[in-house]
Amino acid sequence: MPGVDVINVRSDTQTLPTERMRRAMAEAELGDETYGEDPTVVRLEAMAAERLGKEAALLVISGTMANLVAMLTHCRPSDEVFLDGEAHVLWYESGGLASVAGVVPTVVEGRRGQILPDALAHKIRPPNVHYPRGRLVWLENTHNRGGGSVMPLEQQRAVEEVARDHALAVHLDGARVFNAAIAQDLPVTELTRGVDSLIVDLTKGLSCPLGALVLGSREFIAEARFRKRVLGGGMRQAGVIAACGIVAFDDGLAERLGEDHRRARWIAEQLATIPGLAVDVSGVQTNMVYVDVSGLGSSVEVVVALREEGVLVSDRPPGQMRIVTHLQVTDETAEEAVRRIARVVERMPMRSGGRPS
Ligand SMILES: *Cc1c(COP(=O)(O)O)cnc(C)c1O
Repeated sequence: MPGVDVINVRSDTQTLPTERMRRAMAEAELGDETYGEDPTVVRLEAMAAERLGKEAALLVISGTMANLVAMLTHCRPSDEVFLDGEAHVLWYESGGLASVAGVVPTVVEGRRGQILPDALAHKIRPPNVHYPRGRLVWLENTHNRGGGSVMPLEQQRAVEEVARDHALAVHLDGARVFNAAIAQDLPVTELTRGVDSLIVDLTKGLSCPLGALVLGSREFIAEARFRKRVLGGGMRQAGVIAACGIVAFDDGLAERLGEDHRRARWIAEQLATIPGLAVDVSGVQTNMVYVDVSGLGSSVEVVVALREEGVLVSDRPPGQMRIVTHLQVTDETAEEAVRRIARVVERMPMRSGGRPS
């Protein structure tokens, strides 16, 4: 709406690059990435590998490509990947695991998306000519559709052990792994130590305009580099992207995520007091707030009404909306978002049979 600053809390991908990132892009030293000659890319990859406690890293254009490259590096067609049914790779990565990697996804029961060790052990079958080949266990931490849920370290260790006992590799979709570390007050390397590979997104909490990293052993990343090229993901002067990642690390954007978590929790507490909305406040572990709006109407109706008031949220049909805090959500933004949401809700007739809070 004209004259009003729009508050964009659809996702933490909605951040714009910081001033320092824009400057770093303009000043980056550049070369040919595919030849291994972009010094800024080489620097970011080394920096990320060190921060995340892995031997090597590979810059790609998106988190989706990072996951696909990792899957192609681990698996051949007909290999079996164990994951939970709400995994981002199943829901939001355009089916690439089937159409490109040709793997068989086997769904394992989880708690808010975080797979349970016993449930995993239960799904693993001994090798047999009839079965797909068990190959990879797929974790997601924090878990997007799990409401930004965190996998407790103890649970992660137990899952890793089941995988090891059955000679399965472990991949971590760590698009938001820094959020998962901060939420548990652990160094991120504790979360990456037991996995064979992981990805991290530069465009979420780290606020970069583009890019994601695949991490693993030197050998794994060498093969991943080839797989990335197969997908057409080889780049040229990609230092313009890498420069932003370096700024994100140097400026401590991975360390400030607790602020996003605090604001998400605050927003949840406020919204929980508004009749017509229902929020599981204690379930807000990181930067995501899922709000049940079924007391007001369909989630589409609510999202449209909020947009008219200058608040952009995500639709989680049929009855929920999602709010995500990020670098550009200050205390003032959070307060204004709550005020606008309260105004919209007040105008909407409450549905009987809905769930007032
Ligand atoms: C955002 C995200 C990705 C990557 O998605 P892109 O849209 O390609 O950045 C992967 N996994 C999870 C859990 C995510 O939230």
